[in-house]
Amino acid sequence: MNETIISESVLNGAYFFAAILFIFSLIGLSKQESAEDGLHYGIAGMVIALIATVLNPDVTNVQYILIAMVIGGLIGTRLALKVEMTQMPELVAMLHSFVGLAAMAVGFNSYLDHGQMQGMILNIHLVEVCLGIFIGAVTFTGSIVAFGKLRGIFSSKSLMLPHRHKLNLIAGLVSIGLMIYFVQQEGHMNALLVMTVIALVFGWHLVASIGGADMPVVVSMLNSYSGWAAAAAGFMLGNDLLIVTGALVGSSGAILSYIMCKAMNRSFISVIAGGFGTNVVVNTDQDYGEYTETNAVDVAELLKNAKTVMITPGYGMAVAQAQYPVYEMTKRLIDRGIKVRFGIHPVAGRLPGHMNVLLAEAKVPYDIVMEMDEVNDDFPETDVVLVIGANDTVNPSALDDPNSPIAGMPVLEVWNAKHVIGFKRSMNPGYAGVQNPLFFKDNTSMLFGDAKASVDDIVKAL
Ligand code: NDP
Repeated sequence: MNETIISESVLNGAYFFAAILFIFSLIGLSKQESAEDGLHYGIAGMVIALIATVLNPDVTNVQYILIAMVIGGLIGTRLALKVEMTQMPELVAMLHSFVGLAAMAVGFNSYLDHGQMQGMILNIHLVEVCLGIFIGAVTFTGSIVAFGKLRGIFSSKSLMLPHRHKLNLIAGLVSIGLMIYFVQQEGHMNALLVMTVIALVFGWHLVASIGGADMPVVVSMLNSYSGWAAAAAGFMLGNDLLIVTGALVGSSGAILSYIMCKAMNRSFISVIAGGFGTNVVVNTDQDYGEYTETNAVDVAELLKNAKTVMITPGYGMAVAQAQYPVYEMTKRLIDRGIKVRFGIHPVAGRLPGHMNVLLAEAKVPYDIVMEMDEVNDDFPETDVVLVIGANDTVNPSALDDPNSPIAGMPVLEVWNAKHVIGFKRSMNPGYAGVQNPLFFKDNTSMLFGDAKASVDDIVKAL
């Protein structure tokens, strides 16, 4: 019945058009001003891709696809409506694990149902099956561990098994050996099963051995893996659009990982090899001295007398949902003729671009939201810096303590300003689990409490 609905050439045309829309989507999403357009291109491309797939003449049992789409759509809509912005990275990690699982399912299905293939065609197909299942399995368990670490179910510390690099190497070599054997034997089920188990354990270990401070790279790396898993599924299903889309996700995720590595001054290989450079000793007994406490009224007074103010938000602003009062405060300060800007660290929050999204949500104009590199030299001329729920991204030990787990990571050098106010609920450390000497410096005062409540109080006092 489907042949009458859509022909092969119309299908290919639709896939091509959808692929172009996905490329426009990526271009749009690369700039804040055009991000909304990018989102619309992506939605349009996905709608076209879904309709074309359902109407594909090769697809039988459309009713199952429709049932799955309705169930998946309902769950997805509910999750998207319910999820807090701070839980977004966990959701993304969970979604990546689904892509990995789907690639594994497609791999096993293609293996069991390879029809009348013979010779070279069969060999190529079996290699596709192996690669698809391997990448899918690594993505699946790796993403589950990332989800657990981000949600706090698993410790964010790196798992340091003895000889872990050798173990990874052996797992890789044995998997290649099993793949060769699998193809030589024209599809040996046991070889495939053993390789799958190794890949599942490998994915788990790979992410478990990466420390909390390197999680931004892991999140974008898994994004990349999920793309390659989808591309592998596309090869097995002979679906060109899935190959193109998977490659777009895979390569953009890889580029993002590179950017994250650069932002954190880490080498990509050392991050994915699982914690080279994490053999550092954290001195928990160190005496950092006394810290000074302040209150909202005094901070408001300080701000009124300032000429330049820089706001450096972090994960705590996301937790407190403080972006709305922060913008309210910003507007009042600007109305008083004070120059206010935001300095955004590339890995602030728990997701690449996390702070930019929050500030855009609160309608903060883009022209006062600056990248770290654009503002780092301006702190000596800044009167007041408001560190709102940021910790690791403003930690001076990244620059002056070679034993710190975040050693070498470029940070916002806020301590060079005249006054620094730290908005936090306690003296607890940030995500990397290290204390921040900034909060004990003479020019820093702590404003304790939930960031939203604190900023609300400042707005009232202003
Ligand atoms: P951190 O996670 O280092 O610190 C956040 C601070 O916010 C904490 O010290 C916490 O202190 C405070 N806080 C939490 N809730 C509130 C609240 N309601 N009100 C006020 N303060 C609050 O934040 P940063 O953004 O500086 O650094 C990000 C970290 O996350 C880096 O280590 C980065 O590597 C990592 N990461 C980043 C990812 C990314 O892609 N951006 C992905 C995964 C990890 P207290 O409890 O005392 O209130």
